[in-house]
Amino acid sequence: MKIGILGGGQLARMLALAGYPLGLDFVVLEPAADACAAPLAGHLRAAYDDSAALRQLAAEVDLVTYEFESVPAAAVEQLGMSLPVFPPANSLATARDRSHEKNLFRELEIETAPFVEVHDLQTLQLAVEQIGLPAILKTRTLGYDGKGQQVLRAGDGLQVAWEAIGQVPAILEGLIEFEREVSIIAVRSACGELAFYPLAENVHEQGILRLSTCLHNDSHQPLAEDYARRVLERLDYVGVLAIEFFQVGSHLLANEMAPRVHNSGHWTIEGAETSQFENHLRAILGLPLGGTAAVEHAAMVNLIGELPDVPAILGLKNTHLHLYGKAPRAGRKVGHITIREISEQALQERLLQLNKVI
Ligand code: AMP
Repeated sequence: MKIGILGGGQLARMLALAGYPLGLDFVVLEPAADACAAPLAGHLRAAYDDSAALRQLAAEVDLVTYEFESVPAAAVEQLGMSLPVFPPANSLATARDRSHEKNLFRELEIETAPFVEVHDLQTLQLAVEQIGLPAILKTRTLGYDGKGQQVLRAGDGLQVAWEAIGQVPAILEGLIEFEREVSIIAVRSACGELAFYPLAENVHEQGILRLSTCLHNDSHQPLAEDYARRVLERLDYVGVLAIEFFQVGSHLLANEMAPRVHNSGHWTIEGAETSQFENHLRAILGLPLGGTAAVEHAAMVNLIGELPDVPAILGLKNTHLHLYGKAPRAGRKVGHITIREISEQALQERLLQLNKVI
């Protein structure tokens, strides 16, 4: 069985690594020559909307999935005419636009921060009156890792913020004073089987995920699973889906969803019975899902911008290094580290040791 992946970055690379023991092969469609999944897969080097390349991909593989949500809708439509594409196109269309995404949450009675659509300077002014300040202005599409966002506080010039996000369709959201950011990784198979991983608590630095810690028996787990189930079932979803939440008291406010394997689920490679990557593959192939329970206590630290001191990291017990084979560049995720320990206390102690060497 050969699987096509749109995108050839680290998520595609880790999907391939999870798929080889299951006897799967991979082809990635990815324009960059130095795609980090390329050494593990066939590499079709072309733009995502190159219809000849899409035809070639469809001829070479049995099934297509993707590792990012900004895939052109026309590409998914073209591929969908000749072979299965999972997760389904409607989930891409929803997740790539913050307004559609938040409207879906609203429709499913999943709480969110208050938000209003912004089309120009005038509607931004009206949105500020409605939402109040502080607030956060976000482009509807192509925003990730804190890009395409502008925090607005009392006294800030609206024109400056509007220009800073590139004067493109946006939403204005109330700025939430959350206690924690958490995410759930959920999975639904082509046969309708559902599974949920334990919540992860996420810490961001400059808008980029830095640390994810798997939570054991968190009191918000049932609510997160209920919310995720509503989304999975509404979209007739197949594959792994991540939803990020702001936690305020007993409430979870959905911030965004990703119709793919997600950075806050990387801890599952060593920290769960089955990784999110393997379960995504099982789900899209209609195979039984693997267990999602945590094995001991786990946390994942992203390596951002520079390569680490490898011997120092490997010298720490119960510490697992994943390098993606990417050249370091400011703000770029070049790898991650997962720590797995028998207790919460041991995990925190190991994290302190790790922080001294990265
Ligand atoms: P996003 O691209 O929506 O995931 O935003 C990146 C990060 O910005 C989030 O993980 C939060 O730390 C912060 N952020 C985004 N939206 C809000 C909000 N409405 N209130 C407070 N913080 C936010």
